[in-house]
Formats: sequence, structure tokens, C-alpha cells
Amino acid sequence: PIDPDAMFKQGFLDDVYNERPDKNVVTRFPPEPNGYLHIGHAKAIAVNFGFAKHHGGVCYLRYDDTNPEKEEEKYFTAIQDVVRWLEFEPFKITYSSDNFEKLYQMAEKLVNLGKAYVCACTDVEIKLQRGGEKGAQPRYRCQHAEQSVEDNLAKFRDMRAGKYKPREVFLRMNQDITDGNPQMWDLAAYRIKTDTPHHRTGWDWKIYPTYDFTHCLCDSFEGITHSLCTTEFILSRVSYEWLNKSLEVYEPMQREYGRLNLTGTVLSKRKILKLVEERTVRDWDDPRLYTLIGIRRRGVPPGAILEFVNELGVTANITTIQIQRFEQSIRKYLEKTVPRLMMILDPVPLVIEDAEAVDIELPFSPKDPKMGSHTVKFTPTVCIDRADFREVDSKDYFRLAPGKTVGLLNAPFPVKATSFTKDEATGKVTEIRGVFDKETKKAKTYIQWVGTEGSRKVEARIHNPLFKSEKPDDAEGGFLNDLNPDSEVIYPDALIESGFDEVKRCAPWPEAAGESELGKGGPESVRFQAMRVAYFAMDSDSTDDKIVLNRIVSLKEDAGK
Ligand code: ATP
Ligand code: MG
Ligand code: MG
Repeated sequence: PIDPDAMFKQGFLDDVYNERPDKNVVTRFPPEPNGYLHIGHAKAIAVNFGFAKHHGGVCYLRYDDTNPEKEEEKYFTAIQDVVRWLEFEPFKITYSSDNFEKLYQMAEKLVNLGKAYVCACTDVEIKLQRGGEKGAQPRYRCQHAEQSVEDNLAKFRDMRAGKYKPREVFLRMNQDITDGNPQMWDLAAYRIKTDTPHHRTGWDWKIYPTYDFTHCLCDSFEGITHSLCTTEFILSRVSYEWLNKSLEVYEPMQREYGRLNLTGTVLSKRKILKLVEERTVRDWDDPRLYTLIGIRRRGVPPGAILEFVNELGVTANITTIQIQRFEQSIRKYLEKTVPRLMMILDPVPLVIEDAEAVDIELPFSPKDPKMGSHTVKFTPTVCIDRADFREVDSKDYFRLAPGKTVGLLNAPFPVKATSFTKDEATGKVTEIRGVFDKETKKAKTYIQWVGTEGSRKVEARIHNPLFKSEKPDDAEGGFLNDLNPDSEVIYPDALIESGFDEVKRCAPWPEAAGESELGKGGPESVRFQAMRVAYFAMDSDSTDDKIVLNRIVSLKEDAGK
């Protein structure tokens, strides 16, 4: 049921397409493999792949791997997995680094055109040339800009040959410092980097092209028709066009769209790294994080993310969304796609003195017969949630208490509590006793229960927001001072009914179809609604002996723990 180009059917970015109504649309998603993708990237993926799909074109996955110092192999794999998990298949997977030789030739061409020079200025000098503090001083060029083409070519070749140390010199584009746009103030094209081997080209290169030099050219090489990027690159459009035009290569069209930001969390790599290092979270895929691997581990279906992004649409405006809104979207999606089961977070036995064991046929969804049904065994002793019992009854209370009747979902009769036992040391109720209340045809409230046969113990992890406030970064002393101490609440002795085994065997549940091969069989694709509790999915910490469940979202907003 995932419709990858739903938002484009509503006309988003039609204006962009119509500027260049190419029959063979080619787009690209160009992540730098220097970290795990987050929820914002899901928008970039949906926009680039969706736009191409909608216009009958193709989309590349291009690793923008021009910075050996920051890039690692594990990110390449993780990025690819996540793109496929979101149901998009790249037309081709490419690497900016595959073009290193071609880019180098382009740089020589630029030097030959007199449009690039090797500069030996320091950062301080460059800042002054660009107008100094606040840009208040007149801008000027350094003497290196006056070097001859031959001189520049020789020096640039020396850069490649490793005759300079890092930072000693760099290749600079000869643009237009009189232009009001800082992206035209003789940007860097190549820098020397000799400390780290590149993960693909090893020690082959001592110089690496900058984003400003690489991106537009790689777009050009790949024949990208519409190069869609986020609005912080608006000013870069001018340099993007300047370079392709100067080199007389095919000119793609860059257009910008607004980023997707989420409040109430942090998305920056540096900050998440801090949380991981300090063991505030389990890892980069902690279900409380909004990395895509975290969201995935938590059990959010890929379709829910796409539906969310599609609902927001895409314009030039930055979209800032609260976690609650994202969760509302997930809830809506799960509501119609996952089966329902009975589960008890904090079990207490209820002995029904006149009950007999009986098989009960339960539908997986009360609304959707297509989901089928399963059998659970009702037993004379069942477990109910401690929270559904009170030692002292009151008028405005409708669950179980001594002398009070409550319904048990799908059980033969409602139950009236007669007595209970308590552990004096802990003050906890250890057992409730009751009888069927055959007079009451329809109880006021129905609670879930789990029988003693076929059910199993599981660990349930309830995740709450990692931060207390809407803007963790604004907290005094920084985001680390805004941590919610109750962001993970663990119920080690939760009980789940026998239907879980079938849900597990059939995952991903047919109604949630549209999940890619990669998602299939992943523990997180075992999803269900625990009736009256929350939506859950299986965690990757699960073993054959021990099932661990993550709460995906509560059933209602602000349902508390
Ligand atoms: P971050 O610093 O958050 O990782 P980035 O821009 O450095 O972001 P890239 O790896 O360069 O990350 O991102 C790949 C693509 O995803 C780029 O085209 C970028 O514009 C886009 N992108 C990144 N963050 C967002 C976001 N929050 N919303 C929409 N698109 C985004
Ligand atoms: Mg990035
Ligand atoms: Mg980037």
C-alpha cells in the first residue's frame, strides 16, 4: 500500500519539473557516508526517488565520498540498507570518488581557462580578502590570483604529486569577488589531505575536491536533470551554475526544498555520538533516537515514514515537526495494518474459582476479518495487569476491585473479585480471587488477560522521549542537561498470549506489506497492537529464549507510560 510518489500526485514540485519538463528525469540522493541517516534524510530520499518515479525517471544513490577523514565503510552499508528499507531501489549506486581522475582533469581545464589558481594564503588572510569581520571591508584578491596559467598548472601538479604539505596551498576558483554572493568569492576547489587513506582509493590521492567543486560536476557527469537539494544551498546555486558553465559541460538544474526538522530531539551526528559514548542510549540504533536505524529498530514500518513525509509535502519552506505529530502518523498507519494481541506488562494472577479451561477464537483485528484469527486458551487462572486492580473500590472506578465486576476481553463471562492476597513486605498484591459474574451481560469496562497455557514471558521496553523539553539544545548547559530520566522503562516480566508466535511466523504481517526483502524477517517487522497497552515490535536483542519488545507508540497521544 505504499505509494512512493503520493506527494507529487498532489502537484508538489510541479513548478520545478515544468522548468525543465524532461522526459527522462534523472535525480540523485547524495549522502556523505560520514554518519547514519536520520528522519530528515527520509524526506530527501522520498523527494529525490519519488520525484524521479513520478516523472518516469530514475534516481541514483551517490555516495559523496570526498572526505577521507570522516568516512567509514559501515556507513555505506547502513545507508544502502535504509534506502532499500524505505522501498526505493537506486538506478545505480555511484561514488563521487569514482570520478577523482575526471574531476582532476576538469580542474586542470579550469586552470587552463584561467579560472583557477593555486593560493598560499592563510585562513586569516582569506577572511580579510572576503571583507573581514562582518564583511565590512572592501574585498580584494591576493597576488596568487595574478599567477600565470603555466605557474598555476605546475603548482597544481605539484599539489597532486605531494610536494606540498596540507594547508600550505590549495586550488581556488577564480570567480567574481565583486558579486554580492559569497559563493562567488573564489571558493576552494581542491585541498591537500595526506593523513588518512581514502576507503576506496587508498593513498592514491593527496588532494581532494571540495563539495563546491565536486557536486555540480558529478551531477553533470551523471546527467542529472533536476538536482534537488535543501535550501541552505540556495546561494550555492550560483557557483554550481558558474562551474558547469565555465567548463562547458552538461548543465543540470539545481533547485531547493525545505529541510524536515524534528523538535524535542537532536539529530546532529556530533550530539548523537556524545549520547552513544556516554551510554545514555544503547547505540546509534537506540529506539529513542530519530536516526533511521533507530526508528527502524523501534518497529516503525517504512510505509509509515513515507506516509508521514508524503503528508507533509515538499515546498521551499523548512518543515518543523514535533515528535508527537510524527507519532500520530505512525499510530494511524499501525491502526490499520497490524494484528492485535493480549499482553500484560505487570502481571498479577486472577484465580476464577468456577471457571474451566476453554479455547477461544480471537480475530487478529476486530475491524478487518481479512487478518484472520487465532485460538487462545482461557484458563481458570489468568493474569491481568496490576494497574487494572484496586484494593479499595470507588464509584468512579470501573475496573476490578473487591466486590466489583469487570469484563475480560472475549472471555466467557465477566469476573467479580472476591478477595486478594498481599505481600506485606512489598505491599504488592500477589493474587486476586474471583468468580464469574453470569448476571452481568455487559460489563462497563473490558480488560485484557493472558492465560497460563501457551503464553510466554517477555521483556517489554517502554520508550518515552529522551529529552524533557521541546528544544533540548536551549537547555541551560546544553542538551545533556535536558535528559528525561524515564526515557526507558523496562517491564522484565511482561506476558504475551500465544498468538504472538503466529504473528512472529507471519511477519511482516500481510497488511503491512510493501516491506522490502531487507525488512522481511528483521525482528522489528514483528509488530502488533497489545490491546489497551500500546503498539509493540520485537527488538533485535531478542533470542530464541528471550523475547524483547519495544513500544513503537502508545495507543493515544499522552497515554503516559
Ligand atoms: P546532517 O549534517 O544532518 O547529516 P547533511 O546535509 O550533512 O545533514 P548529507 O549526508 O549531506 O547530510 O545529506 C544527504 C542529502 O540529504 C542532502 O541532499 C541533504 O540536503 C539532505 N538532507 C540532510 N538533512 C536533511 C533534512 N533534515 N531534511 C531534508 N533533507 C535533508
Ligand atoms: Mg550527512
Ligand atoms: Mg552534507
